[in-house]
Amino acid sequence: MNMNEPAQFDTEGLRGEMLLDEPMSRHVSWRAGGVARRVYQPADLADLQVFLQQTPADEPLLAVGLGSNLLVRDGGFRGTVLLMVGALTELRMEDGEIYAQAGVPGAKLARFAAGNKLCGAEFFVGIPGTLGGMLAMNAGCYGSETWGAVQRVQVLTRSGTLIERTPQEYDIGYRHVALKQQSDELFVGAWLRFGEGDVEAAKREIKALMEKRSASQPLQMPNAGSVFRNPQGEHAAKLIEGCGLKGKRIGGAQVSEKHANFIVNAGGATAADIEALIVEVQTTVQQQTGINLHPEVQIVGESDK
Ligand SMILES: Cc1cc2nc3c(=O)[nH]c(=O)nc-3n(C[C@H](O)[C@H](O)[C@H](O)COP(=O)(O)OP(=O)(O)OC[C@H]3O[C@@H](n4cnc5c(N)ncnc54)[C@H](O)[C@@H]3O)c2cc1C
Repeated sequence: MNMNEPAQFDTEGLRGEMLLDEPMSRHVSWRAGGVARRVYQPADLADLQVFLQQTPADEPLLAVGLGSNLLVRDGGFRGTVLLMVGALTELRMEDGEIYAQAGVPGAKLARFAAGNKLCGAEFFVGIPGTLGGMLAMNAGCYGSETWGAVQRVQVLTRSGTLIERTPQEYDIGYRHVALKQQSDELFVGAWLRFGEGDVEAAKREIKALMEKRSASQPLQMPNAGSVFRNPQGEHAAKLIEGCGLKGKRIGGAQVSEKHANFIVNAGGATAADIEALIVEVQTTVQQQTGINLHPEVQIVGESDK
C-alpha cells in the first residue's frame, strides 16, 4: 500500500494497489478528463469486500471497468475509483452456466463461451467493456443485450456485504438497469446461461462482427462508442448526420467522419471539449428535428479544476 494515504482510510489487511491523484485519462477510452483523488485496484473479490467494509460511508465511490462509456470531467473525481479490470477476473463453468466476475472483458467472455460449445455470447466480442460495465449499462448490439443471458448477479453493498440477486429485482431496459429499490451496489459477478450450438459458426460470427465493427467505427481514434441512445424508432447517427454535424469540432473533440454517433478525441481533447460538443449536437438536432437526444455515455466529476 502507498503510505501517503489520508489517515481516515484503514488500509489494514488490504492487498490491492492504491494510486493517488491518478489521471483518469489513463483509464477511459476517450483518453481525456481529470484526475481521481484515489484509485483502488483490489487484489480480488475478498480484498474489495474488505476495502468496502473499511471505507468511510461518506466516501464517493465510482466503479470503473474499461472506461469505454465514461467521461470524468476536467475538475476530477473527488472520491475513490474502484478499478475492476485486472482485479475481478474469475471465469469458469458452473453447473452448465458461465460464472464471470465483473472485470472480465466482453471479448474474453465471448471466446470462453464459444470454447465451451455455447452460442449466443458472440455479440459481447464487439463491446470493449467489462462484464460489470455491461451489466450496469445493459450493453448490447445486433439484437442481443447483456441481461438476456443473466440468471443471477452477485453484488457487493456499499458496506461490503456480498449478496446474490435475480433479474426480477431490477428495472431493465434499453441501456438502462436499476434496482427497483434505490441502492448503490456494485456488480461483482454474474451467472450467464447460453444455449449449445454450432461452435464453428459462433467463431465465424465473432470474426465477422469484429470486421463489421472495424469497417463502420473509428476504432483508430480514442472514442467511447455511441454517445447518444437511439430515440424510439430512430437512429441517432442518421439524425446527427442529417443535421450536417459529421466532422464538427470543438477543441480536440470531433464528431466522427466515419460514424456520426461517435465523438473522437482528434488530439488533445479535454473533457470540457467533449461535453461541449455533446451539448452542441443535442441543441442542433433538437432545433432541426425537434428530437431530444439523450447521452448513453456516463459523465461524472467536477467541471472546475
Ligand atoms: C468502440 C466502442 C464500441 C462500443 N460498442 C458498444 C455496443 O455495441 N453496445 C453497447 O451497449 N455499448 C457499446 N460501447 C460502450 C461500452 O463499451 C459499454 O457501455 C460497456 O458496457 C462499458 O463497459 P466498461 O467496463 O468499459 O464500463 P465503464 O465505462 O468503466 O463504466 C460505465 C458505467 O458503468 C458503471 N460500472 C462499471 N463497472 C461497474 C460495476 N462493476 N458495478 C456497477 N457499476 C459499474 C460505471 O460506474 C459507469 O457508470 C462501445 C464503446 C466503444 C469504445
